[in-house]
Amino acid sequence: MNNDIEEIKSKLNIVDVLGEYIKLDKAGANWRALCPFHNEKSPSFMVNEEKQFWHCFGCQKSGDIFAFVMEMEGVEFREALKTLAEKAGVKLQSYNPQKSEEKNRTLEILELATKFYEVQLWKGDGKEKILKYLKDRGLNDETIKEFRLGYAPSGWKNMLSFLLKRGYGIEEIAKTGLLVQKNNSQPSDLTPSPSPYQGEGGNRFYDRFRDRIIFPISDYSGKVLGYTARVTPGSDESQAKYVNSPETEMYHKSRILYGLDRAKSEIKKQDFVLLVEGQMDVIASHQAGIKNTVAVSGTALTQDQITIIKRYTKNIRMFFDMDSAGENATKKSVKMCLANSISVHIVSLEQGKDAADMAKENPKKLAENVAGALPVMEYFFQKTFGKFDKNKVEDKKKITEELLDIISNLENEVEKNHWIKKVAQGLGVSESALTDELKKASLKDKNYKDSGPKEESKKIGPITKKEMLIQELVGLMLVSSFVWKKALEEAKNGKISLRDNLFEAMLEKGEKVNFNFDTFLNEIVDDRELSEKARKLFVQKKYQLDLNNNQEEIIIEDPWKEFQTCEREMERESKKEELNKIGNDLRLAEERNDEEAKKFLLEQSDKISKELAKIMEL
Ligand SMILES: [Zn+2]
Repeated sequence: MNNDIEEIKSKLNIVDVLGEYIKLDKAGANWRALCPFHNEKSPSFMVNEEKQFWHCFGCQKSGDIFAFVMEMEGVEFREALKTLAEKAGVKLQSYNPQKSEEKNRTLEILELATKFYEVQLWKGDGKEKILKYLKDRGLNDETIKEFRLGYAPSGWKNMLSFLLKRGYGIEEIAKTGLLVQKNNSQPSDLTPSPSPYQGEGGNRFYDRFRDRIIFPISDYSGKVLGYTARVTPGSDESQAKYVNSPETEMYHKSRILYGLDRAKSEIKKQDFVLLVEGQMDVIASHQAGIKNTVAVSGTALTQDQITIIKRYTKNIRMFFDMDSAGENATKKSVKMCLANSISVHIVSLEQGKDAADMAKENPKKLAENVAGALPVMEYFFQKTFGKFDKNKVEDKKKITEELLDIISNLENEVEKNHWIKKVAQGLGVSESALTDELKKASLKDKNYKDSGPKEESKKIGPITKKEMLIQELVGLMLVSSFVWKKALEEAKNGKISLRDNLFEAMLEKGEKVNFNFDTFLNEIVDDRELSEKARKLFVQKKYQLDLNNNQEEIIIEDPWKEFQTCEREMERESKKEELNKIGNDLRLAEERNDEEAKKFLLEQSDKISKELAKIMEL
């Protein structure tokens, strides 16, 4: 993989790669832009062409081309590697070429099929009836084209013949989900007649989508993986209203958020996603200017979808139909979100209207409703108290049940407490009675919390003083070869030791890379986390923004002196920590009346206090 990364980096220029996503302006030796990862009015996002990295002085994110694509597309490293390898024309070594070739063929077929359906819509049979319907629903040409809507004409083998003629084999076409395998028990009039293009196998299959409006479903990068097909209005509406692609090797419904490829950058910018029910809702909202909209396609949110959303934002606004099916889906989705630390707002709407209707009738009002979405608990509180009569015993029970069902999923105890109080007040019952009920509800819902992947143990909130000092020390080593070398000497003499993986890697590889940052970075390029950390600390120590928002180098007059000052502070912190620990042990010893331990601990504390005083004098 090491060679792959280097080869890709040598073939791509960071300015070109990032330039495809954001507008870069030349600023001195560097480039700058408005940061795509946080909202800002003046640019603090810098691209250093010489060193081929980027850094935002606003949100402190930084990295190389891979980190940028990961962040921008919300994908894992592997995926970013593939994307950039393709762009650079690099064949990845650790790749199964046959599997990848197969995948490419599948994508090719789906792309061709999508174009075929588009042509049928604009130039073929779909021209009048389907376009009229879509326009009646308020969509304009531009939107219809943007979302690549199409039409599958009636007939059993339009698609099949079209693809066979282009040289694709029946088996590989079948893998895309575009065909249905013939079932022996089918009446003979449903059997497609043999076609000259079909080989022996051809008789076994026919087109899945016939006389339907086609909504292509893409992955985050816009590659079509499957379709939803709506029955043509006015045709045989006794058939299923919607027919979907089956699960295939590439299309997994539970992992798709419809519209994400067009919504992702706006989701990041707005820091929330508007979640709607159907494809039409997404398309109409998009046309109404609310571009951070995606759909779950008819079902409640899945764990996979939540994981995907979390790459872009931790805030969801839900806009589901509020019929009873919609309400159930909402509740289930809300619980999943809460259990995954996602904050939820609910957009409420008049009975019987969906986002698509509203976008068509009054786009401004839609935007207002989205902006005025209620925090989820407030929404359910109002709704539940409105629905039942709190003076009736039976209703009281229902209110309690419905609300505790959601409260039990709140992660924050303070918040939980707040809502217990409110419900107790609203119903005129005691909080303790509700707390008991809450325990029952929590047990019932346990599966939500356990089903999700464990949150990585990333620490939230500000870092400790000690962590900050470690960053300082390592940062100084990264920008100064001299300091790096001296630190290694000190470590060899046992004068310094830091519990930090980057520090340790620098000690280990220092001599090998001749204490040079760039060489070191190449050496650790396989360890993404470590190299990101190194680059980030390097940039933070090396550059800052001047008054004109230009990146300028920080001049450190005497980095070694600075390093030593930090070291002393570090020691001081360690001593303080030791003293704290002794203080705790001392309290425990007092509780136990353990005189011997007390004596020992007091001596220790005295000794360390003296050492601390000595450091303070320096
Ligand atoms: Zn930023």
